[in-house]
Amino acid sequence: MQRLRWILTAAMLSSTVALAASPAAMDDAPAAKPSHVDLGIDLKGIDHAIKPGNDFFGYANGTWLKTAQIPADRSSTGTFLQVYQLAEKQTSQLIRNVAQSHAAAGSNQRKIADYYAAYMNEANIEKAGLAPVKAELARIDAITTRDDLASVLGSEMRADVDPINATNFHTENLFGLFVTQGLEDSSHNMAYLLQGGIAMPSRDYYLSQDKDMVETRAKYQAYVSALLKLAGTPDADAQAKAIIALETKIAQAQETLVDSQDVHKANNVWSASAFAQKAPGLNWTAYFKAAGLEGQQQIDVWQPSATTGIARLVGSEPLETWKQLLRYHALDKAAPLLPKAYATLSFNFYGTTLQGTPKQQDRWKRAVSATNTDLGDAVGQLYVKQYFPASSKAKVEDMVKNIVAAFDQRLDTLPWMTPATRAKAKEKIATLRVSVGYPDTWRDYSALQIRADDPLGNHERAEALEYKHQLAKLSQPVDRGEWWMTPQTVNAVNLPLQNALNFPAAILQRPFFDPNADAAANYGSIGAIIGHEISHSFDNTGADFDAQGKMENWWTPEDAAHFQAATQKLVKQYDQYEALPGLHINGQQTLGENIADVSGLTAAYAAYHASLHGDPAPVISGLTGDQRFFLAFGQAWRYKIRDAALRQRLATDVHAPANFRAQTVRNIDGWYDAFNVKPGEKLYLAPDDRVKIW
Ligand SMILES: [Zn+2]
Repeated sequence: MQRLRWILTAAMLSSTVALAASPAAMDDAPAAKPSHVDLGIDLKGIDHAIKPGNDFFGYANGTWLKTAQIPADRSSTGTFLQVYQLAEKQTSQLIRNVAQSHAAAGSNQRKIADYYAAYMNEANIEKAGLAPVKAELARIDAITTRDDLASVLGSEMRADVDPINATNFHTENLFGLFVTQGLEDSSHNMAYLLQGGIAMPSRDYYLSQDKDMVETRAKYQAYVSALLKLAGTPDADAQAKAIIALETKIAQAQETLVDSQDVHKANNVWSASAFAQKAPGLNWTAYFKAAGLEGQQQIDVWQPSATTGIARLVGSEPLETWKQLLRYHALDKAAPLLPKAYATLSFNFYGTTLQGTPKQQDRWKRAVSATNTDLGDAVGQLYVKQYFPASSKAKVEDMVKNIVAAFDQRLDTLPWMTPATRAKAKEKIATLRVSVGYPDTWRDYSALQIRADDPLGNHERAEALEYKHQLAKLSQPVDRGEWWMTPQTVNAVNLPLQNALNFPAAILQRPFFDPNADAAANYGSIGAIIGHEISHSFDNTGADFDAQGKMENWWTPEDAAHFQAATQKLVKQYDQYEALPGLHINGQQTLGENIADVSGLTAAYAAYHASLHGDPAPVISGLTGDQRFFLAFGQAWRYKIRDAALRQRLATDVHAPANFRAQTVRNIDGWYDAFNVKPGEKLYLAPDDRVKIW
């Protein structure tokens, strides 16, 4: 099964959830640091009443856990949220400083300032009313034929989906574009077409008979109707029904998320001329022309049955219903940047009904977040200049080198791997491209017009510029150094088609990484995360992509069978964990991520020892090097979560809950010596039961 390949899922850090500014996180802003070596561990958070061998997460975090408070507008708190809030505070300071700097017209700084100012000017937004969407609504009103419809649908396509890197399968437009190298032709870029057409997050929201979903649909109908009424639509209730009926048909045509995540089902290259036969109903020539894709001879259709089904609906459903749906989608997409009555309706449905968030973020936070998205690299350039010194980059790159070397050495001694597979794995690690902090080249915003009085227009022009950038890649050579996250993102990502990794600057800060901290803490924390991402290149999904990023399984059947058997031990280990009374982790669902956790920790541990160059690790504050290494790991997974959120995550997340991720240590021999763990203790595993995959 294709999986998310980042260290955590977006739901944990969803930007649509209001962020409380935590005083604790603010105190952590990296001011000038003393030059002495920091421990890099929160000694006060340790609970010495808990035996490490019984519950390592509890030992490392127990005292913190007793007093930690989950913010009222959050479902969890912990290390990731702490770093996320720090990065948010850093970017908001940057953006607001720039806003006051009177930068020269045309400069990136001026664009940031004007974008932010436009977003903040609520009086202007109220005064403008629906004027910012008038042109779009007029274009829709002018549709009189199916060919017109195809052109308008094509003109709306954006590069707003990503099925393989940072992963996003949702677009409200009929289809979404993704551009990267071909699955089977790694030397050329390819246009990928992904299904879309519905406003709610996935087809399940329209089709599931689950009680919550049925209730959500009733609220959705009320929302669509209210939005249309507000915009002066005469027969709003009837239109809402017709629009949702059409969206429901689109949802029925769509493929499931599980199928969409399976890259083996996505390798469907259609010639441009084949679309008319394979997916009749939509005038594809008009659609592609309006989308700027008319020159493409071949397009990869990620979800072929959905593409056929959706095109058929374009031909079969009443033209007037399509126009109603397009008008509604135009209002729905614009609502957050329209007058307050629209924005509130939108938040009440998407924020409160769908996410359970009672309170909307303050306007300035939304403005910061939108600036960060639409001018991501402009903010990112300033961000790394201020918060990510060259010395940090060099230090992390050195750690990466050591962890990659540890992986490479493990490959040499792995008893189960056949020579043929070993040679391929070595080739893949030799060509792995790890980018730390920020990209080598930045997005060029010089063609982007940003006006201080047009927030919706600014957003739309930024999306259009990004779309043009992605289209331009189709006639350019493949860039394996391309980035898929901004530097100010607190996350990390494995890019299977590029055989590359991105580690954004914002995750490379305390307590994950501190250039002044002891090496043990850095390897135990960010080192294990780096190892986690590297190992995804060599797991069952990584086995599908070779050293050039071409989709081709490079494992011999014997190796695949052995891997399968070895990983079953890990499935059993996690199946035993009871996360809530009576509710266990699903070891199979979380397997890929658990493998990455074990492998990442193993490689980071080996790399830490290699970094000592044969010298004994110093004892600091009474802790040995190994103790500090494992404690830093246990504290990186520090978190507290509400039961309801945990319940939902156990059902949907491919990652185990963070407290169980901390218990990964029980598979590493060195941990037993470091904390004198003995048989009979709850986490104790006999040497043969410790899982060793890489
Ligand atoms: Zn992962």
